[in-house]
Amino acid sequence: MHKRLLILSIFACLAAAALFVTRTDAKPETIERIAPGVWFREGDLKNLGHCNNIVVEMKDYLIVVDANFPSGARATMEDVKRISDKPVKYVFDTLHHGDHSYGNALWTDAGATTLAYQGVADEMKRYEPARWQQTAKERKDVADMHRPSVEPPKQTFDQNMYVLDDGARRVEFHFYGWAHTRGDGFVYLPHEQILCTGDAVVNGPYNYTGDGNIGNWPNVVKAAQKLNVKTVLPGHGVPGGPDLMAGQALFMTELHRAVKSAVHQGKHPEDLAKLQLPDSVKNWVGDGLSGQVKDAYEEITQGKPHGEILGGK
Ligand SMILES: [Zn+2]
Repeated sequence: MHKRLLILSIFACLAAAALFVTRTDAKPETIERIAPGVWFREGDLKNLGHCNNIVVEMKDYLIVVDANFPSGARATMEDVKRISDKPVKYVFDTLHHGDHSYGNALWTDAGATTLAYQGVADEMKRYEPARWQQTAKERKDVADMHRPSVEPPKQTFDQNMYVLDDGARRVEFHFYGWAHTRGDGFVYLPHEQILCTGDAVVNGPYNYTGDGNIGNWPNVVKAAQKLNVKTVLPGHGVPGGPDLMAGQALFMTELHRAVKSAVHQGKHPEDLAKLQLPDSVKNWVGDGLSGQVKDAYEEITQGKPHGEILGGK
């Protein structure tokens, strides 16, 4: 009897391990169902520069989280056709970067309304058309759009929160302040306890801090942690649980703390090259660390968010 129970529990552990492996395996450019009517499409960041997309099914239409680059938008449109006959009515830009918004015009051409927090439109005014034009030199899909700049979101909100609820499902759009950009939007499905975080939370060494506010970043993630969340669908990297938010917040806290203490010790930027962060945040540490350290150094020594240094007020 005991042996049988033991075998059963070993099988349960194996099954759980198998599920864990499946969920953490990278599957770029594929779409998978996360919950009834909710799909996650992992973008190939490494080779194509794509962000992740989430598709949410409502009674009569679909909502897509993030417009992606044009090539990512087209690939997502193809996948969407395979999973549902319903039209995409709304596309929500979680932020202004090209991998989340440069496909906007393709979605609106196809009949969708692009949505974002006001901060996304403001960031576009701040950085565009320079970034679009630079990207068009590097990416054929952007050049082939033959546009002078990104198409701004058609509808913006400045209040936390904005809600779409058609009786079949409730979808909340949240804004908690400046972390990765000044427009970071979150999409929350309260019934399913799913949170789409854009790049305010990523799963892996994918944090770009250039337009960010490193010092405030953990506060934004902590505000999002107050939601009841079972599944986190990040802007880059594979899905995770609520611990992903805690880890992301901790990474920014540790980065800021380590650089601040180096500054207090009178160290210079060139001394920071070997700066190390604790093992607890190693999921987020990669080739980008030196850039993140440099951004944190500038933020701390100049006393303002890095995005203000890069983009002005
Ligand atoms: Zn991104």
